[in-house]
Amino acid sequence: MTLTGTMLIGQQAVAGSREAIRAIDPATNLTLEPAWLGGTLAHVEQACALAWAAFDRYRETSLDARAAFLEAIAAQIEALGDELIDRAVSESGLPRARIQGERGRTCGQLRTFARTVRAGEWLDVRVDNALPERQPLPRADLRQRQVALGPVAVFGASNFPLAFSVAGGDTASALAAGCPVVVKAHGAHPGTSELVGQAVARAVKQCELPEGVFSLLYGSGREVGIALVCDERIKAVGFTGSRSGGIALCQAAQARPEPIPVYAEMSSINPVLLFPAALQARGEALAQGFVASLNQGAGQFCTNPGLVIARQGPDLDRFIASAAQHIWQSPAQTMLTPGIYSAYRNGVEDLSANPNADTAAAGLVGDGPNQCQTHLFVTSARNFLDDPRLRGEVFGSASLVVTCADEAEIRDVAEHLEGQLTATLHLDDADLDAARALLPVLERKAGRLLVNAWPTGVEVCDAMVHGGPFPATADARSTSVGTAAIQRFLRPVCYQDFPDSLLPAALQHGNPLHLRRLLDGQREA
Ligand code: NAP
Repeated sequence: MTLTGTMLIGQQAVAGSREAIRAIDPATNLTLEPAWLGGTLAHVEQACALAWAAFDRYRETSLDARAAFLEAIAAQIEALGDELIDRAVSESGLPRARIQGERGRTCGQLRTFARTVRAGEWLDVRVDNALPERQPLPRADLRQRQVALGPVAVFGASNFPLAFSVAGGDTASALAAGCPVVVKAHGAHPGTSELVGQAVARAVKQCELPEGVFSLLYGSGREVGIALVCDERIKAVGFTGSRSGGIALCQAAQARPEPIPVYAEMSSINPVLLFPAALQARGEALAQGFVASLNQGAGQFCTNPGLVIARQGPDLDRFIASAAQHIWQSPAQTMLTPGIYSAYRNGVEDLSANPNADTAAAGLVGDGPNQCQTHLFVTSARNFLDDPRLRGEVFGSASLVVTCADEAEIRDVAEHLEGQLTATLHLDDADLDAARALLPVLERKAGRLLVNAWPTGVEVCDAMVHGGPFPATADARSTSVGTAAIQRFLRPVCYQDFPDSLLPAALQHGNPLHLRRLLDGQREA
């Protein structure tokens, strides 16, 4: 397939007219062809009008038809073969095996959502049958199901060009919920976006769905992105990226005449707590595991372990020395974009120059442009608490060890953390009481708590939570990974005293969809 440099508005390939967007291969800094001219407000208008026109029909597709659509998208993405892999590698600088794995995850999560849609549990059907004889007042017949919110704007993320971009987790969960999607492509991987966008458009056609179910726009976030968020037909937003970008979208969404939810995943430093017995028993193994996690994907994972908290002493000194040994041998890795590299370099330079932190180790310097050199810094709990410059995210393979005098100081540090996607505890049996005492703090801070594991690597499954209090996300009540992500794009509707023939199938008396309902207070088997 040849890249056309066009957007997709429904089934139409449409050329933009704003400033050209060209991918840069971050491994060479060479510009890749072709160019995509940015979209205008008129293109946003067209895509939203089509999405709105598609909404009522799409949201009432049968469970089977919608699941088959998600499966068709996965099959169409796989059919792109090596062309997709080659383009994504050259646009992201990520290793081929990582991109192949990400394609597997992308198609896997589309199929997981297909299974979720078919099972129908997400409809959360609740039935309270009428009680005409009830005294002093009869009860009406009340039936509740979940319905789709409306068209969703999705912002492709730079750090997962497949799994959190055009047909990634936000798109899959919104489509699963019955919401048409308008994607704003990330300018770092426009070719990957077009290839995947065409795959989705082919699936729309193959499944005979209304064309407005999916559109893909290119252009500036401040023009196309904000216009999309502000369009009255858009009813929710999915975003992964910078804190400033996420906040800008939240503010735009809140300032609308009709405010809408923005599910923005932004900034997290993912604290790792090393408890004394674990540190004493296996400090070197912990150091090895920590550096492997820190280096994964050049640290460009939202769950990168950017903070280590532990009690000071010889065991922590040995952990730091051992981590330093691994870091000194860590090869540099290409970062996703020149902009992300430059933000990383600035962050590391600021920490290096900060008198409140010491550099414990730096990795090998890379050849070529945009090379992430791993860094480890050390500071005291006092400095960490006093100096806000030590508490921000440095997106890349950089981490900070905070040395604490005692358990009270560890608790103090934990209490002063911002909201996080994850908090990790490394512990042995002798550490359980100390860990138990900290849990209430950590539950307030993070969306996922891990024991004796590393936070990078997020399983796509039913129990996963990839979310957390601000600034990890804009809405801690939800997850962006796993099947529960569908709930972000649903809302409940109650039908009172409806004749059976007017009820949606999910709520009819005979339960034709064979759903496990909450019937008069009892969950059906
Ligand atoms: P970004 O700058 O936030 O951009 C993401 C998307 O949001 C782009 O489509 C961008 O459009 C749009 N956008 C950004 N600011 C906007 C604004 N004020 N108004 C409207 N739209 C806006 O993120 P990025 O390019 O992926 O990376 C930049 C930095 O974000 C990284 O250095 C890193 O610090 C952070 N980041 C964090 C995570 C994480 O998971 N924690 C993941 C990725 C990135 P334009 O391209 O037109 O601006």
